[in-house]
Amino acid sequence: MRASRFFMPTLKETPSEAEVPSHVYLLRAGFIRKLAAGIYDFLPLGFRVLKKIENIIRKHMDEAGALELLLPILTPAELWKETGRWDVYGKELFRLKDRHDRDFALGPTHEETITDLVRKNIRSYKDLPFNFYQIQTKFRDEARPRYGLIRGREFIMKDAYSFDVSEEMAVKSYEIMKETYHKIFKELGLDYLMVEADVGAIGGKFSHEFVVLAANGEAHIVFCENCGYAANIEAAKYEFELDKLPPEEEKPLEKVYTPDVKSVEEVAKFLGVDVKKIVKTLIYVLDDGTAVAVLIRGDRELNETKLLNYFNALDAHLATGEELEKLGLIEGFVGPIGLDIPVYADKSVEDLHNFVVGANEKDYHYINVNIPRDFKPIEFVDFSTAKENDPCPVCKNPLKETTGLEVGHIFLLGTKYSEAMKAYFVDKDGKEKPIVMGCYGIGVSRLMAAAVEQNHDENGIIWPENIAPFKLEILALNIKDKDILKTAENIYEKAKAKGIEVLLDDRDISPGAKFKDADLIGIPYKIVVGKALKEGKVEIQKRDGSLKQLISLEEVDKFLDSIKE
Ligand SMILES: [Zn+2]
Repeated sequence: MRASRFFMPTLKETPSEAEVPSHVYLLRAGFIRKLAAGIYDFLPLGFRVLKKIENIIRKHMDEAGALELLLPILTPAELWKETGRWDVYGKELFRLKDRHDRDFALGPTHEETITDLVRKNIRSYKDLPFNFYQIQTKFRDEARPRYGLIRGREFIMKDAYSFDVSEEMAVKSYEIMKETYHKIFKELGLDYLMVEADVGAIGGKFSHEFVVLAANGEAHIVFCENCGYAANIEAAKYEFELDKLPPEEEKPLEKVYTPDVKSVEEVAKFLGVDVKKIVKTLIYVLDDGTAVAVLIRGDRELNETKLLNYFNALDAHLATGEELEKLGLIEGFVGPIGLDIPVYADKSVEDLHNFVVGANEKDYHYINVNIPRDFKPIEFVDFSTAKENDPCPVCKNPLKETTGLEVGHIFLLGTKYSEAMKAYFVDKDGKEKPIVMGCYGIGVSRLMAAAVEQNHDENGIIWPENIAPFKLEILALNIKDKDILKTAENIYEKAKAKGIEVLLDDRDISPGAKFKDADLIGIPYKIVVGKALKEGKVEIQKRDGSLKQLISLEEVDKFLDSIKE
């Protein structure tokens, strides 16, 4: 491809809305352009990267025996109503009506659509298993679309759905997809982790996320360098057994005066005790309006995902000052003793002795509180957010914390959708049973952003070779110099003949502008044809800085051979 005939409108300035490197560089290097909030055009450079990513995914999905198909983007409301997700999805579902006033949604995911196809066409255990996938545009009406391709309203996904006769077989399909995802992410050339994940709104039995490690990632992960355990902190188990305080004799309960002392740190300091012996009483209001009290040890943070899962709630919030007042509670001094709303406790509170809680009275706390003597929670539940240095649940080694971008998510769904939609088959024993499902997503357009988040410097993108828009860029530094242009064109033709994807920068712009654009766009290899040509030499470079060397024209052939697949 000749740059003079190619559309790559680069920008010198950073667009004001771009906050993270991938957004900045994909805009500046001419890979994408914004059409509206969270909606982007993919320009030719961006499109080439998208196709590379898609092809790697497709290759491994096909090898795993998955069958590619294409489902409609426009999905009828009836299907969503069958599973209850027409209501559950809320405002994130893009809804529209046709001319007959029928409701439709632009698909954010396709469990309902594919299950409808399968239930209409599969009768017997002999027809199974199947794994179907598609690579398609998806829609989600995000409240705050941001970070360019990372959180868009229109995006490209690979979604796959497996259908099996039993849970045992479904687990096998799941394991095959897990292995396939490892192959995909390895070939994409990205540094990633597979982590245990929360099942969230999709539901199901268990799930894993594939997270590309990057400083700006929204996903917080804990991982163990010793045994390889890794989990999203939303899902990571808190191993309270490994973090208990030593047992103590119970002391008599006492109410103490703690004037203006509210926060955990203040209380601990005022009373001269370890923060681990202060128990926070958090009042949450669930989406149905009920208030619950959740106790957690002073050194732990409550994990709202675990809270929502436990109460099977879509939404919950910490009670406001006003809400506390209505419940007759005093901010900063709330405690479980004598409380007439249901009390639950994090596992960190189990086996805790002589601890401190609010006394439900202004400026007072109870000390030497003990369970079950002074109060009894309904249940001890793991509500804690995992954090760095927590013991690894597998090997007890202290965990490390890192961030990344979730780009893949796999779920063992079980029979949640097949039962709701009556997708049954007749088993060997002649009985009708629900098909056991799994679903497997990869954010294709998001991967493009994740690759940039992980691979860039202050000058631009450094594409991993397998997803770069071109493998090689030839810079003809001064096209008015006939020798330079002719040599650059010769090398360009040679590279093409060897099957190398090559961009020739033959534009009539300054050498400085060519170098700047090349760094911004981030093609892995460069051949610079410039002044050294007088000595019969050209310069070969790698964008990651690992190579910068003058070679003779005779050596160009060997270099081209070394970079072709
Ligand atoms: Zn471990």
